[in-house]
Amino acid sequence: MFSFFRNRRRRKLLAERPLKPELWNQVLEQHPILTRLTEAERASLRDLTTLFLAEKQFETVQGLELDEVQKASIAVQACLPILHLGLDWYQGWRTLILTPREFKEKRRDPDGALVHEYDEELGGEVMELGPVFLSWRDIEDSGWGDGYNVVIHEMAHKLDLRSGDYDGCPPLHRGMSYQEWGQSFRQAYEDLRRKVTRLGKRAEKALAIDPYAATDPAEFFAVCSEYFFEDAKVLFREYPEVYRQLALFYRQDPIGAKAAEG
Ligand SMILES: [Zn+2]
Repeated sequence: MFSFFRNRRRRKLLAERPLKPELWNQVLEQHPILTRLTEAERASLRDLTTLFLAEKQFETVQGLELDEVQKASIAVQACLPILHLGLDWYQGWRTLILTPREFKEKRRDPDGALVHEYDEELGGEVMELGPVFLSWRDIEDSGWGDGYNVVIHEMAHKLDLRSGDYDGCPPLHRGMSYQEWGQSFRQAYEDLRRKVTRLGKRAEKALAIDPYAATDPAEFFAVCSEYFFEDAKVLFREYPEVYRQLALFYRQDPIGAKAAEG
C-alpha cells in the first residue's frame, strides 16, 4: 500500500513540478560524465533527480549555503548509479549532511566522506539508515571524468549496505552470480593490495587506481564504482572482470564493452 501512494505521489510530482529546464541544462553541462547518456537516459535521470531532491533532505553545517544548482548537482550524481535500478535502492535513509571543506580537513578522512567515522562511532546498522556526510569541496572535484567522485562513492556504500553487510557486495540481480562477483572482486582487490604494499609511498603516483581502494573490500567496491562512472576505460583496462560485474549490477556499460566484445 505504501508503495502505491508513493508511486502516485511521485507521478504527480513529475507531472506538476519537474526539474526546471534551465536548471537541468545547466547541470548537464557542468558534468562531463553525463555526456555519454542517451536522450532516453537523460530524461529518466532528470525524473530521478527531481524525485531525489523532493524526497531527500539536504542539511548544511558550518555556515555552508547551497543554491539549487549545487543541490541539483549532488542529486544528479547520486542518481547516476541508480539510473537503471530505480530510486527505491536509496530507501531507508533520508538525509545528506553537507559540510564545507573545513570539516574534511579537521577530520582528515582519506576520501572526504565522513560516513566511515560515523560507522566507527555508531555502528554499522545505524549507518545503513543514517545520513550521508559529504563535503562540498570534494563534490566540486567530482563529475569531471577523472575517476574521482565522492557522491558516487558514498552512494555505492549505501547500495553495498542494502545487503545488510558492509562488504563490497550489494544485493545482486537475478541472473548474476555471487560466486563470480566474489571471485572477480577478490582477485582484483588482492592484486591492488599487493601493488600498494610493494610501492609504498609511490603507490599514489604509480597506480592507475586510487590506492585508497586497497583499504578494504567495501572501499574497493566504492572506488571501483567511482571509476566505472567517471573513467571507465581505466577500470576496464586494469580490472576488466570487475568492470563486467559492475556493468551487470548497474545495468550500464559506459565504454560500450559489451558491443565491442560481442
Ligand atoms: Zn568510503
